[in-house]
Amino acid sequence: MSNLQQLDKQYIAGTYARFPVELVSGSGSLVQGSDGKSYIDLGSGIGVTAFGFADEEWLKAVTRQLGQLQHTSNLYYTEPCVKLAELLCQKTGMKKVFFCNSGAEANECAIKAARKYAAAKKGPEYSDILTLENSFHGRTLTTLAATGQDHYHELFQPLTPGFFHTPANDLAAFRAAASSHKTAAVLLECIQGEGGVICMEPEFVRGVAEYCYENDILLMIDEVQTGNGRTGALYSYMNFGVTPDVVSTAKGLGGGLPLGACLLGEKVQDVFQPGDHGSTFGGNPVCCAGALSVLERLDDAFLAQVREKGDYVRARLQGAAGVKAVSGMGLMIGILPEAPAAQVVRICMERGVLCLTAKDKVRLLPALSIPMELLEKAISIILDVCKEASAC
Ligand code: PLP
Repeated sequence: MSNLQQLDKQYIAGTYARFPVELVSGSGSLVQGSDGKSYIDLGSGIGVTAFGFADEEWLKAVTRQLGQLQHTSNLYYTEPCVKLAELLCQKTGMKKVFFCNSGAEANECAIKAARKYAAAKKGPEYSDILTLENSFHGRTLTTLAATGQDHYHELFQPLTPGFFHTPANDLAAFRAAASSHKTAAVLLECIQGEGGVICMEPEFVRGVAEYCYENDILLMIDEVQTGNGRTGALYSYMNFGVTPDVVSTAKGLGGGLPLGACLLGEKVQDVFQPGDHGSTFGGNPVCCAGALSVLERLDDAFLAQVREKGDYVRARLQGAAGVKAVSGMGLMIGILPEAPAAQVVRICMERGVLCLTAKDKVRLLPALSIPMELLEKAISIILDVCKEASAC
């Protein structure tokens, strides 16, 4: 074990099982280790570095802002945060934005908005939030309660009350659950990311949206992982033809700096009053300047390229030796290998390709701007590894 890894073990809380790789610098979708080894990055910091490492435009936007004002608090107005909110609303049709620092915080904001809205509209007993089994919504005690996977809950009881989980893609079960609780809102991922890159069926998402609309239940879409161009649409709900009341997002939005956003639609645009919610760092001008440079580039032509690259990857992997199934949308890709996913990821890393896992899948979340040649090279390596590992 290297000195850095020993110090990490000694001083960093043991929450992460890291790979034995020390990363020191990167450019685009290539990243270098301290041993001089170069890797093609298909993880982008778990879907964060949307335009890769040290992207020129992003770097310029961030460093320009860094030299002007790095932080002001929310006691004052700053341009990047207002401009970013305006652009998010223009591109989505949502009405207002609350900025925070992470996906979990964006979901916390969504949940607070839902509870306040429903209490005023229907009564304080309407506080229940429905989410899906196998979902992932974050690691705060409230977003853990929202997360529909028991194993995350076990060690941290009691969690925030009022969360109920219903099976994905089962509209009858959803309706039964929603009507048997005092349901304020539904929170769902259109594609479950941590749950194993599982796409919801369009009829299910549309059925949920209709039920919510008919019953004045807020439809809240968690776009933390799927958002900001990842699936080939600006936000994944746009692939499903539904209009959410609340959208939470983070990860790729800041392009590598911590930024979360909770987008509030018409019904909830005025739900918050001064003092109801807040964040010291939320809307930080440097993070927002970086996010503006990301969001401004996610136009139709760019998103079409994301879809093309995703289609290319899926076409090459589908039916290949050692690959049982391929899932996902755009550049959010799940590969179910015949060999254990962790083994495939480890061998890929040894051969210079960084991938992620999600449950039993190998998960790919490359930078949206990854050049085609690098993608082709990385997929060839993954194909070789899937085939060889399945034969062991
Ligand atoms: N929601 C979803 C769908 C996620 O995938 C994640 C993180 O993976 C989160 C929420 C939590 O985001 P964060 O780790 O930024 O708090």
